[in-house]
Amino acid sequence: MEYRRLGRTGLKVSVLSFGSWVTFGPQLDGDLATACLSAAYEAGINFFDNAEAYAGGKSEEIMGRALRELGWPRWSYVVSTKLFWGLHDVVNMHNTLNRKYLMQAIDASLERFGLDFVDLVFCHRADPDTPIEETVWAMHDIVSSGKALYWGTSEWPAADLRAAFEIAERHHLHKPVMEQPEYNLFKRAKVEQEYARLYEDFGLGLTTWSPLASGLLTGKYLGGVPEGSRASLSGYEWLRDRVLDEERNAAVRRLQPIAARLGCSTAQLAIAWCAHNPRVSTVILGASRVEQVHENLASLEVLERLDDDVLAEIEAAMAG
Ligand code: NDP
Repeated sequence: MEYRRLGRTGLKVSVLSFGSWVTFGPQLDGDLATACLSAAYEAGINFFDNAEAYAGGKSEEIMGRALRELGWPRWSYVVSTKLFWGLHDVVNMHNTLNRKYLMQAIDASLERFGLDFVDLVFCHRADPDTPIEETVWAMHDIVSSGKALYWGTSEWPAADLRAAFEIAERHHLHKPVMEQPEYNLFKRAKVEQEYARLYEDFGLGLTTWSPLASGLLTGKYLGGVPEGSRASLSGYEWLRDRVLDEERNAAVRRLQPIAARLGCSTAQLAIAWCAHNPRVSTVILGASRVEQVHENLASLEVLERLDDDVLAEIEAAMAG
């Protein structure tokens, strides 16, 4: 396993990490969830991503229970949560980054996990209704209290992130150190263009999500929606159009011969491609089965095969 610094911090995270969106709760519980975490940890993964909103809080409970069962030393892994959507559909407690919500939400999250602190806490989206200064102070206080060790954002516009850095700098507060954007062969603009200046200016690290575009880049949707797949789950109807999109599937088909020549699957090629970007601190994997964890972890072997010629072929395949 390769470990990369989370931006300019001294914290190192495994270049591949493991997240629980969709899977923990709707697809995996108990032993299976523990087995996936265990397979990831055994291979050197040290970062496990979660969020308050995943399965309405159940995902944090499942991960917390599994971590207790597995009995790993707390110093051996990094765990995160993300706050924004809230679990109570009432004023001040959902779709917000106000101080009241954040201070109460972190306590509730720690309780669900059964942990004293999370290593990383993210503002899961930007909140145009709360002054950025209020959010930065609240996140600073969460870090100062020891309930989280580092804070960051997810899918924030670059301008809001810059404002947050500048406020933190002005008041000598804990700064955001990482952002969690979607990054995969279909979704590149935020990481490659919008945030381009933030890496050098502020030392921003990235924990990127959906390396397989929810499974599309595995090629599993080339012939329709397979039973049991994410797009077949009730509540995920919105995903069907996206994964069945003809142009996108045509691009996946064009990636297949490249992957075959490299002796890997298109999933492994797509994950390795994300990790190839040095701005990416860690690529968060999703998996609904232990076999997927194993297959996706083997992307590490593909990483070293991505030379300039292969990268150019991938660009051409995506362009069509
Ligand atoms: P992916 O795009 O990699 O999709 C993962 C899903 O694809 C799996 O659950 C599985 O679904 C399918 N899959 C994975 N590997 C294989 C394989 N080898 N063969 C066949 N199917 C496979 O990642 P996610 O969308 O799950 O995102 C990863 C993590 O990123 C999340 O768990 C979460 O922690 C984080 N995230 C953060 C967000 C944010 O807003 N900050 C938003 C979304 C995710 P199935 O088997 O059911 O088809």
